[in-house]
Amino acid sequence: MARRTGALVPGEELVGFLHSDLSGLNRGRSVPASELESRLEAGVGWVPADQALTPFGPIAEPNPWGSAGDLRLLPDRATEVRVDLWEDVSPLHFFLCDAANTDGSPWDSCPRTFLKDTLVRLERETGLRLIASFEHEFLLLGPTLETGPGFSFEAQRLVEPFGPLVMAALRQAGLEPETFLPEYGPGQFEIPCSPAAGLAAADRAAAIREVVRDVARTLDYRASFAPMADPDGVGNGVHVHMSLVDTEGRSVSYDPEKPGGMSATAARFAAGILEHLPALCAFTAPSVVSYLRLGPHHWSAGFGSISERDREATIRIPPLVGIGGSDPASQFNLEFRAADAAACPHLALAVLVLAGLRGIEEGLPEPHLMEGDPSELDEEERRRLGIRPLPGSLEEALDALESDAVVRSWFSNDLLDCYLGLKRTEISLLDGAEPKEACERYLRVY
Ligand code: GLU
Ligand code: MG
Repeated sequence: MARRTGALVPGEELVGFLHSDLSGLNRGRSVPASELESRLEAGVGWVPADQALTPFGPIAEPNPWGSAGDLRLLPDRATEVRVDLWEDVSPLHFFLCDAANTDGSPWDSCPRTFLKDTLVRLERETGLRLIASFEHEFLLLGPTLETGPGFSFEAQRLVEPFGPLVMAALRQAGLEPETFLPEYGPGQFEIPCSPAAGLAAADRAAAIREVVRDVARTLDYRASFAPMADPDGVGNGVHVHMSLVDTEGRSVSYDPEKPGGMSATAARFAAGILEHLPALCAFTAPSVVSYLRLGPHHWSAGFGSISERDREATIRIPPLVGIGGSDPASQFNLEFRAADAAACPHLALAVLVLAGLRGIEEGLPEPHLMEGDPSELDEEERRRLGIRPLPGSLEEALDALESDAVVRSWFSNDLLDCYLGLKRTEISLLDGAEPKEACERYLRVY
């Protein structure tokens, strides 16, 4: 495991052609850096059934492709990450790719292509574009790790030089880190990155995980983005911040005259997400242990509600900072909190946008802005306000997906069949495992 050998890194530099798959893991193949230019156009070979790989290894059977077929992983030049901060560790160098057919045509089961198509559709149908950022929490682990009190400066200094190195690495990777913070849980940290256009934001979410893991390894730690490390512990959330802008880049999400400062467009976008939330959770909170994180009083997402500045809401309206001359309209965003890093960021963002788009197109009523704790209301009152509980398990979320004809209609048959088969296999691989063991299994993978 130890990588600080003091020796110069031997061998050739390799460049990964990676693909954030349905399990939210980056998989792919590498080419020698010396041959990169000749590889950029035609990419590398890939296998359709790889999309059915469970996080625990076995491939879900049946899946729509079995042993047949071939794809290409086609790199997007804009996603290049190259971090070269160490003398004795080879540069971390990779591109994110679309999985395409061998003639270069789009493959109907590629999550990144699915997000691209969704963003094109959003703009075609509404004239709007999405700006987003994914805020990741993660744990550092390992026998040499010393943990300090939650949010304390000591917790940060005890892992020196992790903070400075990870910030330098993220900056070199072009991922625009904003702050580095020790979080609430022991060994838990968070690094928000600047907002970017929808596709770039999802690409950044896929890339940040590799950069953080690599820096951690260099210091003999392991970084884990698993949703829960322990059933009684603190969750690692991925909070997805979203705002809508017109083609000139002007925000259309903010209206100071409306409740919460949320424009009618943003309110309908939120209403679409809340309307389809149980099915969306199958993609945004897609592990068995994701449901140990969600629920009331975990500061993750307690109910399918929207609130101003409340960390129990599935959609939180963060505060607008009125000092330092910042413009409220460009700050305004909706923070979706019922997501974690077991989700493929491209897939998760696509379904949120598709649900939001539907909310806009159907003119769904603006959702009730919850004040206070929805768990203190009785069921009748919650129903009156349109506030539903989140699914209690991955099975429930998958059932909700199967019964939501609107959400199902967004996918090709192959993509949907593969996803349902993959997730049900993942559940069966944990058959009989106590929650603690299930957390440990995910902790090793994510
Ligand atoms: N750790 C919490 C989660 O699982 C989030 C805490 C926070 O608001 O940053 O989402
Ligand atoms: Mg946090």
